[in-house]
Amino acid sequence: MLGGMQDFELRVPRLIEHAEREHGQREIVTWWADGTTTRTNWAGIGRDARRLAQALESLGIRRGERVATLAMNHSRHLVAWYGTIGMGGVIHTINPRLFDEQLVYIANHAEDKVLLYDKAFQPIVDRLRPQWTSIAHYVCFDSDGPDSFEALIAPFEGDYRWVEGSEREPCMLCYTSGTTGNPKGVLYEHRSSVIHAMAEIAPACFDLSAQAVALPIVPMFHAAAWGLPFAGAMAGVKFVYSAVNDPAVLCSLMNEEKVTHSAGVPTVWLSMFQYMDATGRKPEHLRLVTIGGSAAPRAMIERLMRMGIRVGHAWGMTETSPIGTIGSPPADWAEMDFGGQVDLVCKQGRVPFGVELRVVDDEGREQPRDGKSSGRLQIRGPWIIKRYFQDEQGDCVDEENWFDTGDVAVIHPCGTMQITDRSKDVIKSGGEWISSVELENAAMGCAGVAEAAAIGVQHPKWAERPLLLVVRKEGSDVDEAAIRDHLKDHVARWWLPDEILFVDSLPHTATGKLLKTALRERYKDYRLETGDDAAQPIAEAAQG
Ligand code: ADP
Repeated sequence: MLGGMQDFELRVPRLIEHAEREHGQREIVTWWADGTTTRTNWAGIGRDARRLAQALESLGIRRGERVATLAMNHSRHLVAWYGTIGMGGVIHTINPRLFDEQLVYIANHAEDKVLLYDKAFQPIVDRLRPQWTSIAHYVCFDSDGPDSFEALIAPFEGDYRWVEGSEREPCMLCYTSGTTGNPKGVLYEHRSSVIHAMAEIAPACFDLSAQAVALPIVPMFHAAAWGLPFAGAMAGVKFVYSAVNDPAVLCSLMNEEKVTHSAGVPTVWLSMFQYMDATGRKPEHLRLVTIGGSAAPRAMIERLMRMGIRVGHAWGMTETSPIGTIGSPPADWAEMDFGGQVDLVCKQGRVPFGVELRVVDDEGREQPRDGKSSGRLQIRGPWIIKRYFQDEQGDCVDEENWFDTGDVAVIHPCGTMQITDRSKDVIKSGGEWISSVELENAAMGCAGVAEAAAIGVQHPKWAERPLLLVVRKEGSDVDEAAIRDHLKDHVARWWLPDEILFVDSLPHTATGKLLKTALRERYKDYRLETGDDAAQPIAEAAQG
């Protein structure tokens, strides 16, 4: 034998063991729904996770079985992840913002055995309990009674050895929000979660280390909280959690705990900005903000960058654990002017080592990385889905493991990927594609516009033409002419919407994305005032 290396299964409990041993005193702070604050540390999380593992075994939970949570971000939720996974179980984080029908479907499909939930979601539990057929134990995270989390773990000392096994065993289950059809389960494995965490802590990714103080606004029930609970244990991060998403609370916590890193979807920053404008307060210590889940608007990126904060614009999905790409300053960053830097951050960044990307046309031919050729974005790698949970249709990848993301993108020569749309949202005008995302982003850059959605509506000649729906900012009287004027400088002339309608609000999915399916349904019989002739010159400009 030539020699060689050890067998060492990449299992999630090794993360919490590492955090306890190497970063045991790094704090985990929680602001609870009732306004109280508690402090523990990685050693405390590890100890309570072993106590929970013992408690779950005493309830009869066996290896591979699902333990569900319906909860916001807090230290007990973190304990639930490590305790469940450590005893060989699968932690299933349920998104409480889903509709009842989906909540019932998901828990029954996952065959959850235990539900750990926040008191704030007691009404959901009371309402749906009769329909949840597999859950035998209900435990409240933040109450005092006999059914509380503290009562459940109280009898146990934490003298427990983590269950060992293969790194290919499952450890976590997350369902996609399912804008069409039933939600689908994505089953993460020990190995995929550990490798994803290794990629995530890198400077060019989330830049996590023992110096980082992170306040993840992304909920623990959304796409594995972007892997932060695993990456944080690996790097010895101090976590600051808030069980409420109030910008006043978040801003105070950020300043009191000297938070350096935060992560969340664009809407959380919108409400933070409103709070900052109203009070004059701001987070003082933030160094890196990661934004993903939907495209971060240019104005948001610019504002954060002007505050001296690095913005990591990330793209991913539940199916990709979720990191697919993320932006970080390239070699020539210092030579770029501010506008150029913002331009770059508006794109979705590059892949970390581990995942591979390509763009293909409708016939599956790979497109050049020229920043112009758009097509379907496909991805593969060790933390990318192969098959949905309990899916009889089999694998969801092709024979070379490429997973089709449903997004439309271009890849630039430097490797930077830019999402131009979701394949079902692209507006197909006269055989050419109009990016609904770019149109929306351009509209949101216009003063007085709070939110905008672009959808394709039927057109007798051009198949589809864009209709723009706009929500005005409070107190603004921005009108159609002003928006058109602004758009003219930002998009091709033939992309200009045929009509702009002002609405009070727009529908969103449970994860805060525009619900385009509902909008398309609502406007499916909409007749454009412009008729076929008026749009003609606009659309003809497209072809010429
Ligand atoms: P769901 O479809 O269930 O809401 P995810 O939360 O996994 O699921 O969302 C994944 C999708 O979100 C991606 O396929 C993409 O369309 C969109 N997305 C995520 N990040 C970005 C981003 N930075 N820019 C544009 N779109 C994004």
